Amino acid sequence: MIRVGVVGYGTIGSRVADAVRSQSDMKLVGVVKPTPDYRAEIAVSLRGVRFFAPSEGGLRAWRERGLPIHGTLDDLLREVDVVVDTTPGGKGRGMRDTYESTGVKAIFQGGEPPDVAEVSFVAQVNYDAARGRRFVRVVSCNTTGLARLLYALDREFGVERAIVTLVRRAADPKEVKKGPIDALVPDPPRIPSHHGPDLQTVVPGLNVITMAVKAPTTHSHVHSLAVKLGRETSREDVLGMLSSERRIVLVSAASGFRSTADVLDIGRELGRPRADIYENVVWADSVSVNGRWLYLFQAIHQEAIVIPENIDAIRAIATDLSAERSMDLTDASLGVKSGRIFRPP
Ligand code: NAD
Repeated sequence: MIRVGVVGYGTIGSRVADAVRSQSDMKLVGVVKPTPDYRAEIAVSLRGVRFFAPSEGGLRAWRERGLPIHGTLDDLLREVDVVVDTTPGGKGRGMRDTYESTGVKAIFQGGEPPDVAEVSFVAQVNYDAARGRRFVRVVSCNTTGLARLLYALDREFGVERAIVTLVRRAADPKEVKKGPIDALVPDPPRIPSHHGPDLQTVVPGLNVITMAVKAPTTHSHVHSLAVKLGRETSREDVLGMLSSERRIVLVSAASGFRSTADVLDIGRELGRPRADIYENVVWADSVSVNGRWLYLFQAIHQEAIVIPENIDAIRAIATDLSAERSMDLTDASLGVKSGRIFRPP
């Protein structure tokens, strides 16, 4: 049984904590959270989560609220094999020394710089590179979605060049401080955006250029891709490959899937926890091939896509399980799908 601690209980941390709880080979020992708010109260009463404060000074607030608190970060680190750091982007870098001094292995998130860890990780691409490592970084939502897709295309057809425009959600639903907004923002205004170089930390040598625009929405990014393949192929062959690729699903406008609002809606209709969509969602309608050029749209649920990767990263650094076995376990426990999830038009 892998003993896991989670540091941070926001968008990613709360989901990682629940995903760890649903693995038969992992035990969620506890979660570090600064504030004893309603989310803590629900996690304690419905899920039996054990909370720890970041430091001694943080214990009082929990006691005053009458919520159980089991110690500090240092106490939690003594009880775990692996810690998953999900603190706000940039903060995990500062936490690394603490993890290093206690001997635990640690997983960081995409908001940290690549050099926070020995490996930048996407399970389908480079699980084996993370095996037995001490520090691993699960890359951002956009990088994860692009790495899954472009790695599969490269393996099957070769990718000579990829041109990607990312339309990014401006904020997560609970981030009221970032809104309201009424604009489309080139973000960053320079081209290429940082996403391409980040992608190359996972798929080295990939010839990719990325451009990003922030849009006033809270659920999902949309990626528009133009990919020059290594050889000529057909639309049918690309759809066939995508249909059998793990963690990628195909949807179509004919089945009612018209916008990112439907990403959220499908999550609700499927009864997924927090309406989460862990898969890349590719519009089959958009897949078109002209000679060696392939064009398509995909949607990425930013809050959820990295959750399976965090679970696989834990197994990669803490067990001898193969990539396929780990992903099988993760996908079965979370109900992750692949292929056409609705009748083809
Ligand atoms: P978040 O702000 O929702 O959650 C971070 C949590 O950490 C907050 O609840 C905060 O209270 C807590 N925290 C702050 N200092 C702490 C400390 N010292 N100890 C314990 N907890 C502390 O952030 P998030 O969106 O979950 O992002 C976390 C990481 O995941 C970032 O690196 C981010 O870039 C990455 N990421 C985010 C998304 C997304 O869409 N939200 C997607 C992929 C990756």
